[in-house]
Amino acid sequence: MTDSPYLQVALPVPLRRLFHYSLPDTCLTAPHTGTRVRVSFAGRQLVGLVMGESDHPGVDEDKVKAVDAIIDAIPILDRELLSFIHWAADYYHCPLGEALQTALPVLLRQGEDASFEPEESCRLWDLTPEGRGLPETPLPRAPKQAELLVYLREHGPTSWQTLKEQGFSRDPLKRLDERGLIATADPDSLDHFSAEPPLALNPQQARALEALAPGKFAAHLLDGTTGSGKTEVYLQAIERVRKVTPTAQALVLVPEIGLTPQTIARFRRRFGPKIAVLHSGLTDRERLNNWVLAATGRAQIVIGTRSAIFTPLAKPGLIIVDEEHDLSFKQQEGFRYSARDLASVRAQRLGIPVILGSATPALESLHNARAGRYHHLQLTQRANSQATPQIIVSDSHDVPASRGVTEESLAAIGSHLASGNQVLVFLNRRGYAPTLQCHDCGTQLQCPHCDARLTLHHNPRHLHCHHCDFQRPQSSHCEHCHSHRLVPLGLGTERSEEFLKANFPQTPVLRIDRDTTRSKHALERLMAQIHSGEACILVGTQMLAKGHHFPDVTLAIIMDVDGGLLSADFRGPERMGQLITQVAGRAGRADKAGQVILQTRNREHPLLQLLVHQGYGAFAQALLSERDITRMPPFAHLALVRADAPNAEIPQSFLKQLRQQVEAAALTHKVQLLGPMPALMEKRGQRYRYQLQAKAESRGALHQFLQALVSAIEAGRWQRALRWSLDIDPQDM
Ligand code: ADP
Ligand code: ZN
Ligand code: ZN
Repeated sequence: MTDSPYLQVALPVPLRRLFHYSLPDTCLTAPHTGTRVRVSFAGRQLVGLVMGESDHPGVDEDKVKAVDAIIDAIPILDRELLSFIHWAADYYHCPLGEALQTALPVLLRQGEDASFEPEESCRLWDLTPEGRGLPETPLPRAPKQAELLVYLREHGPTSWQTLKEQGFSRDPLKRLDERGLIATADPDSLDHFSAEPPLALNPQQARALEALAPGKFAAHLLDGTTGSGKTEVYLQAIERVRKVTPTAQALVLVPEIGLTPQTIARFRRRFGPKIAVLHSGLTDRERLNNWVLAATGRAQIVIGTRSAIFTPLAKPGLIIVDEEHDLSFKQQEGFRYSARDLASVRAQRLGIPVILGSATPALESLHNARAGRYHHLQLTQRANSQATPQIIVSDSHDVPASRGVTEESLAAIGSHLASGNQVLVFLNRRGYAPTLQCHDCGTQLQCPHCDARLTLHHNPRHLHCHHCDFQRPQSSHCEHCHSHRLVPLGLGTERSEEFLKANFPQTPVLRIDRDTTRSKHALERLMAQIHSGEACILVGTQMLAKGHHFPDVTLAIIMDVDGGLLSADFRGPERMGQLITQVAGRAGRADKAGQVILQTRNREHPLLQLLVHQGYGAFAQALLSERDITRMPPFAHLALVRADAPNAEIPQSFLKQLRQQVEAAALTHKVQLLGPMPALMEKRGQRYRYQLQAKAESRGALHQFLQALVSAIEAGRWQRALRWSLDIDPQDM
């Protein structure tokens, strides 16, 4: 027996505990916390993370196995990040091994070396002296190469990854390299990068920037209308922090759809190439390389989507969350964390400032600002003097589904197009029509696996369930009465496109939804066409409301405001208000005043009136008062136990029994239970879904209660077919 202690190891398995392993005899000192080890577990080899040591074996001594190998010479996660992930796993009641799994790049999970492997994608391309000596407009007969040369002249050394993001292909790069006009440069010799100078801030921006104190924790809510210059404040906030500590790093989180080449380019123009981008389009190797650049401090700025909140930072200085209200910051499965909420937690633990920015802040954030937990920084003026659009409410109660737009909207489209402008039609439903209905018996085509209707698609023609992906050919007759008279019911983007094409045959109609942007670069191509500025109609979903600015759009029509206003989800109105405000903010510019038409069957709805006449701020205030009265978030805290199985009986009885078992604990902790009740869509993908809601005024009390609840679940014997999960601060019901 050696005197080496046992190791406590976190493994990627859904069990809420650590596992004990002994050290191999050949190993004299125990590996540090944060080191990866290879172990065998239930007949499989797994990569685990050492979380600490223990003098006790945890189980029978002779059952403890030795670790098979120690992977890292030094820990891959520092104490800060490790304890932060630990905290998050605790808060979301997620097994630590699973949380770590989410936080680590794929290659590290697989046991790959945690080292930077310079590869093509990371080398920086730059002009050679010959390349720099070319005339202003170089290589007139090779436009692709010329474009690349001009880009490098303007941006300095650039990685292949960035060039790819900016739409360049490999061919011109190779040609220029062969001609000796460009070459790869050493990343540390970046002297001739000339940064774009910062803009002179307007008084509101200056006040926002003044509020930022480097080196101290404070949360700032940057509440500024679209185009008010929030991004400029982010950029200068980073400079301000780096002026105090030149090696300080900034972590910038953006919504999935907001990580556009334009956004990245804007940061690169200001800060040069020392930016690491983390998004889903990277290869595993690129992702690991960028992770290492962040961990070693070589990346000054890390821009990424949700999971980037877990990036190791050698010298953290500032965290920024752009469009903080965006739903994509909440992971909806497995480790159900909110990157927005965790950003504040991590900043606090690090003792650095955090900025949450949005034109339409979440009610939670506004509430925190009102309660004094966040500095409320407001930007009410548009930095680029773009006119605020006029909002018109248009009654749509007698509009036939085949056309969707009201007379008023139709006339407005005509007149905006006639003046050479672009029009945006927003409809959050793709496909041709939400369903096919039998003209004779009224039967609607249902998905066999879900409580949902099958969406009719024309292009290609088929029926499609948007919830479980079930697809089948379009039937020619009613399954119920065999009638052949099947008619499309309601309106999707394809049908809207068809109607608008028929009515405006001279005008290009561009549809932008998941179906038209599936292929690589399709969205970029559509965006390029839009940015050419020619008159056209854009019809699209959600994708149009985020991340992009449309300077030539002067009219935006939102087809169905009622879906959100009258939604069964208590967050429906908040989301609708955000959507309307975001769509309105993305249209128009200084010399082209915009109009927004909201089509509704409830024109007198008080919330709608408030939004239209007094703006998002007043609208959000009213919603907050409602939430206060009903004691819903942010005035109380929610958790959902979700359960599903192939028949309804299993989740129902699971939740019923669970409720009985935790009733006493709920009473002790002043937690209100509601349910079991069916989810908004009870049956989905052949599984019946039920939930039990727990609500408490105190976060701490809710947390303690949930600990009791999780123990009860884990101690119980449940049907094998049961799947359950716990969602803290759920964002969808
Ligand atoms: P937001 O992020 O709030 O939507 P941006 O930062 O993108 O706003 O700014 C909108 C536009 O206004 C951009 O074209 C930006 O260059 C310009 N802008 C921002 N701040 C200023 C300023 N202080 N002076 C002049 N132009 C500005
Ligand atoms: Zn029928
Ligand atoms: Zn389905």
